[in-house]
Amino acid sequence: AKHAGKNTYRFFDETMDALIKRRVYLQQQLEVAIKSDTAFSLRYQPQVNTTNHEVYGAEALMRWEVTKDEWVSPFEFIALAEETGQIIEIGIWLMRNLFQQMAEWNKRGIEFGKISMNISAVQLARDALAERMLSMMNDHAIPAEQLCVEITETTLMTNSDKVMDNLKQLKKAGIALSIDDFGTGYSSMSYLKAIDADHLKIDRSFIIGIGEKDSDEHIIRATIALAHSLKLETVAEGVDSPEQLAFLKALDCDYIQGYYFSKPLMADDFEQFLEQGASD
Ligand code: C2E
Ligand code: MG
Ligand code: MG
Ligand code: MG
Repeated sequence: AKHAGKNTYRFFDETMDALIKRRVYLQQQLEVAIKSDTAFSLRYQPQVNTTNHEVYGAEALMRWEVTKDEWVSPFEFIALAEETGQIIEIGIWLMRNLFQQMAEWNKRGIEFGKISMNISAVQLARDALAERMLSMMNDHAIPAEQLCVEITETTLMTNSDKVMDNLKQLKKAGIALSIDDFGTGYSSMSYLKAIDADHLKIDRSFIIGIGEKDSDEHIIRATIALAHSLKLETVAEGVDSPEQLAFLKALDCDYIQGYYFSKPLMADDFEQFLEQGASD
């Protein structure tokens, strides 16, 4: 037993060692990426109206190619950047590049609807975020109606005055507000009213359960009913099958985002998607 114990410790040490090394590596590479400005890019995942399949807009999602063909998922690098504080610079990168793209589309008369962008709690709490965002939008002549800000419900849980102030300023300017990954955190229903959100996004982890798990179906049904009674629109995320689409349609879910209609696309592919329309 003693022997096994020792091995367990050694395994633990080696795992820890590998984790720490990866962390340090990624943190350094993030620094390089922030300075070089070429390693990050954006994808646009269409959001489609559930009833008529018209394109409602898209969610902007970041991609990071650390070195040639080495991609690191935003799940990993966003979480790390939040811990190190690098998320502030990354958020600025996102706004600059997204607004440039939107300005270009506007100039060319391309109607892309509403673009949702993810904003982390760390950004909302530490930066004069709203002021900065509104001034960057102004620089690129982006109307507020073209933007939606996605925050997770855990962001609301921080219960920080700064977070709330920033959100209020964005709302006041006319930017839509969406609660992301709803049902996966611990938010209080009262926040939904307090911050005057416009959309509620049903997390992919529940959508996966459609046709498989009664409890997931009940949660989705209750979430949509709650949202609609509070006058919020619902967006289902990670929809990738006709069964899931039919289920959500029957419940009057407002918008669909997921591989069923499209994966996150490069800007020019999203333009094509806008031209051709959603097909199933
Ligand atoms: P999220 O905001 O919940 O974004 C939805 C994620 O689900 C995206 O993963 C998207 O590619 C994926 N997805 C959508 N439809 C499907 C589907 O049908 N099947 C499957 N398997 N996946 C689907 P992604 O792009 O890897 O982003 C992961 C998370 O990273 C995002 O979750 C968001 O929290 C964060 N993130 C991404 N970009 C940014 C950003 O620019 N800023 C911040 N702060 N966070 C970001
Ligand atoms: Mg999101
Ligand atoms: Mg989401
Ligand atoms: Mg999610």
